[in-house]
Amino acid sequence: MTTCFIAIGSNLSDPVAQAKEAIEALKHLPKSELTCCSSLYSSTPMGPQDQPDYINAVAQITTELTPLELLDCTQRIEQEQGRVRKDERWGPRTLDLDIILYGNEVIDSERLTIPHYGMNEREFVLYPLLEIAPNLQLPDGSELKTLVNNVARNGLRVWLP
Ligand code: ATP
Ligand code: CA
Ligand code: CA
Ligand code: CA
Repeated sequence: MTTCFIAIGSNLSDPVAQAKEAIEALKHLPKSELTCCSSLYSSTPMGPQDQPDYINAVAQITTELTPLELLDCTQRIEQEQGRVRKDERWGPRTLDLDIILYGNEVIDSERLTIPHYGMNEREFVLYPLLEIAPNLQLPDGSELKTLVNNVARNGLRVWLP
């Protein structure tokens, strides 16, 4: 059993509903259990600014899936929720699921970089992660709390209905 963290993001087609649907889908991952999920947050877009704000969350699972099996599953969920891959980097999307951490493993393969390469700079990953795992250490021994202290909220806030 490995504890993993998955970042959820959406800014199209009712992002709140998309995020909730993704959380439901993660509950049904094979060989896995959803053990915790952060609040939903709203954030301003990274990259192209001509797109709607995002809804973000981070989920914790325990799993017996391998990293690549987990990626296959999360990419299938993205597809099922209508993700259309376009050329524009960081453009709008119905659902993005990024594997942030897979236990203490460090992976650098063609399809997978873990820890996720952007996590240390992204407020919409770090703050939801801090909410559910305040004492987390990264594989390199760094403390999540310390990382968060170096990243501004940049408009990130808990989403309230
Ligand atoms: P970013 O990766 O900067 O957050 P993005 O999420 O928009 O941008 P995608 O188009 O969703 O990028 O993914 C591109 C590729 O990234 C995927 O096809 C996948 O193989 C690869 N990838 C590498 N590491 C990971 C990871 N930790 N989690 C999810 N996908 C990953
Ligand atoms: Ca654009
Ligand atoms: Ca992403
Ligand atoms: Ca992604």
